[in-house]
Amino acid sequence: MPKHLPTHLNPRSPLVLDTRELPRRPGVLRTVSRTVAAPADLGVELIGVPEGADLSLDLRLESVSEGVLVSGTVTGPIEGECGRCLRPITDSLTVTIQELYAYEHSTTDETTDEDEVGRLQGDLIDLEPALRDAVVLALPTNPVCREDCPGLCPECGVHWDELPAGHSHQQVDPRWAGLSQLTRQEE
Ligand SMILES: [Zn+2]
Ligand SMILES: [Zn+2]
Repeated sequence: MPKHLPTHLNPRSPLVLDTRELPRRPGVLRTVSRTVAAPADLGVELIGVPEGADLSLDLRLESVSEGVLVSGTVTGPIEGECGRCLRPITDSLTVTIQELYAYEHSTTDETTDEDEVGRLQGDLIDLEPALRDAVVLALPTNPVCREDCPGLCPECGVHWDELPAGHSHQQVDPRWAGLSQLTRQEE
């Protein structure tokens, strides 16, 4: 990967932050509050933010000596299915973002890798990678509809909640019952 990718960020893209209004003087602050449409595939296999759903960004952009510190929260709905019973899950998720983006050609830019510290591309910040990381970290890898979800009976696939107490498929088939008697006699 080349150290400096050509700037291809679209300033109008919802997850691109434009810092032109933020003077490059340490300590200067700007806040960004906006609602944007969630990008595709924001989540993990069983659960995530539906594409196009409203994501509320509530961020603080702060000039620091080497770049811009972005901190704040992003909130959105999540949808998925229970890993035990496959019932749909809907919830909401708030993730915290705290990420430094270094100015191009700053000392930080020259001395760190792009995967350690983010980069400004001109005046623009691509928030999407940090947002994806935060969302994936915050989501459960095994989502459940409720903590004590008992799941499905592996034999008939019916939810244990809907089955009578003592439900079982352990009745011995009469043909095998005869066979097991036979085995016992041989012993
Ligand atoms: Zn469940
Ligand atoms: Zn069953």
